[in-house]
Amino acid sequence: MSTLRFYAIKQTLDRKPVVIEETERRSAIFGANVFNESTMRQFLTKEAFNSVMSAIDNGSKIDRSVADHISTGMKEWAISKGATHYTHWFQPLTGSTAEKHDAFFETIGNGLAIEKFGGTQLVQQEPDASSFPNGGIRNTFEARGYTAWDPTSPAYIYGTTLCIPTVFVAYTGEALDYKTPLLRALYAMDNAAVAVCKYFDKNVKKVNSSLGWEQEYFLIDSALAASRPDIVLTGRTLLGHTAAKGQQLDDHYFGSIPARALAYMRDLEIESMLLGIPVKTRHNEVAPNQFELAPIYEEANLAVDHNSLLMDVMDKIADRHNFKVLFHEKPFAGVNGSGKHNNWSLTTDTGINLLGPGKTPMSNLQFLTFFINTIKAVNDNEELLRAAIASASNDHRLGANEAPPAIMSVFIGEQLTNVLNELENVTDGKLSPEEKTDLKLNVVGKIPDVLLDNTDRNRTSPFAFTGNKFEFRAVGSTANCANPMTVLNTIVAKQLIDFKAEVDKLIKKKEMKKDDAIFNVLREYIKKSKNILFEGNGYGDAWEKEAKKRGLSNHRTTPEALKVKVSEKSIKLFEDMGVMNKIESEARYEIEMEEYVLRIQIEGRVLGDIARNHIVPVAVRYQNILIENVKGLKEIYGSEFKKFAQEQLNLIEDISGHISSINSDVTRMTDERRTANLIEDFEKKAHDYCFKVKPLFDSIRYHCDKLELLVDDELWPMTKYRELLFTN
Ligand code: ADP
Ligand code: MG
Repeated sequence: MSTLRFYAIKQTLDRKPVVIEETERRSAIFGANVFNESTMRQFLTKEAFNSVMSAIDNGSKIDRSVADHISTGMKEWAISKGATHYTHWFQPLTGSTAEKHDAFFETIGNGLAIEKFGGTQLVQQEPDASSFPNGGIRNTFEARGYTAWDPTSPAYIYGTTLCIPTVFVAYTGEALDYKTPLLRALYAMDNAAVAVCKYFDKNVKKVNSSLGWEQEYFLIDSALAASRPDIVLTGRTLLGHTAAKGQQLDDHYFGSIPARALAYMRDLEIESMLLGIPVKTRHNEVAPNQFELAPIYEEANLAVDHNSLLMDVMDKIADRHNFKVLFHEKPFAGVNGSGKHNNWSLTTDTGINLLGPGKTPMSNLQFLTFFINTIKAVNDNEELLRAAIASASNDHRLGANEAPPAIMSVFIGEQLTNVLNELENVTDGKLSPEEKTDLKLNVVGKIPDVLLDNTDRNRTSPFAFTGNKFEFRAVGSTANCANPMTVLNTIVAKQLIDFKAEVDKLIKKKEMKKDDAIFNVLREYIKKSKNILFEGNGYGDAWEKEAKKRGLSNHRTTPEALKVKVSEKSIKLFEDMGVMNKIESEARYEIEMEEYVLRIQIEGRVLGDIARNHIVPVAVRYQNILIENVKGLKEIYGSEFKKFAQEQLNLIEDISGHISSINSDVTRMTDERRTANLIEDFEKKAHDYCFKVKPLFDSIRYHCDKLELLVDDELWPMTKYRELLFTN
């Protein structure tokens, strides 16, 4: 019955915003629950402190004996803040975070107990992790996985638990998580970028990759969300007719934030401050009940951890406010979905943003070097970048005319396009002094001015340069950013290594000056990377045709997109760069394909259940009411009854038509699922789920949504779009 629906609406209407008391300034509470540098100074011996700092800055190993000192200090701090437990916090390939809490409490005999936390417990833990996806890496029961402390991401206290960020690896050394390959990719990037920086500044010793993510999400009242089995089980609506009003009036975007949502955001921000997550921006997004939150950018590994942690915190705080957060890329048809733009740049330990134009021609040549190498890397690895953001949920968004297309391209703006055009014409070989002066004064030297005016922001581009960073916009809102960040840093690092080799070769073999050689190599890169540059409308059909001509990939579905992960070229790339070995690449491919199947499988089951057990019975009930009505009219009017009953008779027929289509489609879908489930080969199975099972969702939905328009509102069992999106 529709009781649950109306009960949920009533509950929602009765809600009041939660009162948030804020007594201290945000800057005063920032990082209060983090074992950060200043806390470490207080709680660690000098030796222990130096050892952690050196691990963070130079990646040096921490001695076991020192680890005991560190753990003791950490424990003292944690207990002073009310913590009773500790956990190794990690990011398995399930897409969420994992933790297993152990108490500090330890018995020591004679009925006595103490609080204990040794170096070994800090450094390593062995969770019983046999249920995490491993893609066949840990098939035997002996081959257990363990977690190991990542000192570059600080420990923090959440609730009463000390959380220690860790990597999760198999005993045989293979990565079982998102963090391990990311750390390896960042390491590769550091080395490759430092080597190239030395052309410009010998003092550079470290290059950090920076990430600033922008998290989009929907907030739905928890009672309304709970009234929809599809939202509860799949995170999105599998059916529902669009509301009369959607986002066409643009009245939500950047509008004043509704009171309950604002209270939620403030609560969330305060918690984020305590956890050292530097959240800064909040606003309404385009769709009703859709919002965005963004932090100040940080070193990529830390930023990834902070995003994963934040998503978890968002869920927990939502409970206090009677909200459910929907992270799904497309929770509602007909209005915008959610993404997670990844703003990315490279910063040196001398404080230079390598993707930001500088003040001198030399620093601008450095900027152009990193800028053009990034473009070349994307050009040569566009398929891999597409694969890095593939998921069943992001498939709804990419190419859906509201979000970046499934075709990867780079937008750089008119001014930088002009700069590249000029550079493309530099002389082959040694440059004359006049040409060099001209380049330095009129091309390279002009960049900062032109960029200031470069306000053109093409929102349809999946990978756009926005003044001092690249913005990877095709990333989905549910994604763990480690995945795209691993790929991006790996391909650019590889590109920088190739670049350096080519420049060095010109210097050595052709006796060119350093900047002559750099100009020469960059010129060739510009020529070779033309295909990936696109300034036009990424949503248009024309681009699809043009991209095809250019030979760019256009993988609309996850199974098609993922395939490249196990191409010879990709496996070799990750191997050469020390990011993943062949076993790890293959395992990830398998895990992601299986995850795809599972997601579609769950959606299929839920949709079948809703359509058959919720919608059809209600449609029949309403049809019976109509039939009773027609019978009554016949009683009154005899043979003339049709004059008065024609509309009802039409409705009865229409309803029958939809019911019969739903039943036959659900039967077909179930059969297709059964057949697919028997397939052993995971690639073929994912393919069938994608092309045989999933397409039936659309027609089932179509008929259910039509019934929604026909059936008496009071009987309708599913909470409607207008109620989900406009009640708050
Ligand atoms: P928008 O793209 O919505 O206009 P901004 O560009 O101001 O917003 O910032 C979006 C995100 O990009 C923020 O997280 C911000 O900290 C981050 N960001 C800004 N500069 C950089 C940079 N140089 N490198 C990486 N991220 C950056
Ligand atoms: Mg942005």
